[in-house]
Amino acid sequence: MSNVDWQGKHVTVAGLGVSGIPAARVLHGLGAVVTVVNDGDDERSRAQAAELEAQGIAVRLGDGDTLPESTELIVTAPGWKPGKPLFAAAAEAGVPVWGDVELAWRLRGQDGREPAPWLAVTGTNGKTTTVRMLASILEAAGLRTAAVGNIGVSLLDAVLGEESYDVLAVELSSYQLHWAPSLRAHSAAVLNLAPDHLDWHGSMEAYAADKGRIYEGNRIACVYNAADPATEDLVREADVEEGCRAIGFTLGTPGPSQLGVVDGILVDRAFVRNRQKQAQELAEVADVNPPAPHNIANALAAAALARAYGVEPAAVRDGLRNFRPDPHRIEHVADVAGVAYVDDSKATNTHAAEASLAAYDSIVWIAGGLAKGATFDELVTGCAKRLRGVVLMGADRALIREALARHAPEVPVVDLDRTDTGAMSEAVREAARLARPGDTVLMAPACASMDMFVNYNKRGEAFADAVRARAAESV
Ligand code: ADP
Repeated sequence: MSNVDWQGKHVTVAGLGVSGIPAARVLHGLGAVVTVVNDGDDERSRAQAAELEAQGIAVRLGDGDTLPESTELIVTAPGWKPGKPLFAAAAEAGVPVWGDVELAWRLRGQDGREPAPWLAVTGTNGKTTTVRMLASILEAAGLRTAAVGNIGVSLLDAVLGEESYDVLAVELSSYQLHWAPSLRAHSAAVLNLAPDHLDWHGSMEAYAADKGRIYEGNRIACVYNAADPATEDLVREADVEEGCRAIGFTLGTPGPSQLGVVDGILVDRAFVRNRQKQAQELAEVADVNPPAPHNIANALAAAALARAYGVEPAAVRDGLRNFRPDPHRIEHVADVAGVAYVDDSKATNTHAAEASLAAYDSIVWIAGGLAKGATFDELVTGCAKRLRGVVLMGADRALIREALARHAPEVPVVDLDRTDTGAMSEAVREAARLARPGDTVLMAPACASMDMFVNYNKRGEAFADAVRARAAESV
């Protein structure tokens, strides 16, 4: 259906939201007859609906499950669960369902321009960081590019906007991949695979299968994590273009067709002339910001995709050097009295927290919030030896406290029995009391923030404010 004739086509857009509203506008602009359906009927959606209706787009609020008559295509918000009755009705009526990624993919080249190839990234953790590192490398190579997805440029803008690109670095979630059956990336990477969003996908198998779609039809390289065999399994199962290669990344010495680390140097043994005998130096570990193990893995994945696209080694180095991490991702806030304070508020699940806890030797850990069904035994076992102390807060803190009692009974724990926003200052005060010079106070909650904060940004800001206040007092 590429080069679809949209004129008069009846399209139902499911969900008023960050992807639905622009999709409805674009499709309307192309001549489609658009109806937006939405479950909610609150003040905000009524205001949004009024705006769309003023432009000639029909909106039905409070009923996201009835398939509007004569619908020929549904374009859904990626978050809508596959089990929703709307999709059962669509299947029955033989109506295809596209997500926001599928729509963007199909609209490439619609305006007659040569479409830019996609270098795509997914994984449970590290997607945004890797995509931004990749865009930085591509830019350093002099290419016209953008980081596309959750942050940066939106998918529709990337394919239809005024700007023309040579190549795009695209972040894709498992939800988006679920609804993107015809996406065919130039090359793609799955960074890691840990249980997450299982309530949405139904099972770990379904979640993995959706992530694995990113490799379907790849032309040049399927990049996998050698330390996470599940990602390599997905490459094996994928149907790719002839000649497409499986490329691994590892924090150890790389084998042929891998990128890895040797004596503090990131090296490429995949995109070199004689990979049996040769390795190409790309950058130093110190060029990666911050040089924590999981972040070096992200850098290697980004480098692999860039090299698959033909980028020279020097641009990999320059791109990594130019890269600045986003806020609240292992962000060093300040040193106070010889103790480093690090904000990893973005560690909203145990897998992410595990990565940042692995990056420091002696830690006072601030944790807790909404556990989203997670268990903490494995996480606590992995870091018990490096914990100087723990400060717990938030709704599900008892789950972490119990895991600590089981696996790290000797570690002092301060349990803050409050969930108001002021709790963060107290947490920082308690952490400072437990810490000794040379330690790191790490706020990597392993939990979502919404029990106490609007989002993880606000949680990170509360932490940073509390730390800065301490720093100011100590001068
Ligand atoms: P995503 O876009 O997948 O949510 P981010 O790049 O925003 O990922 O990082 C989210 C959090 O995940 C970070 O705060 C960090 O703690 C953790 N993280 C980043 N990269 C990795 C990785 N490769 N493996 C495990 N955890 C990671």
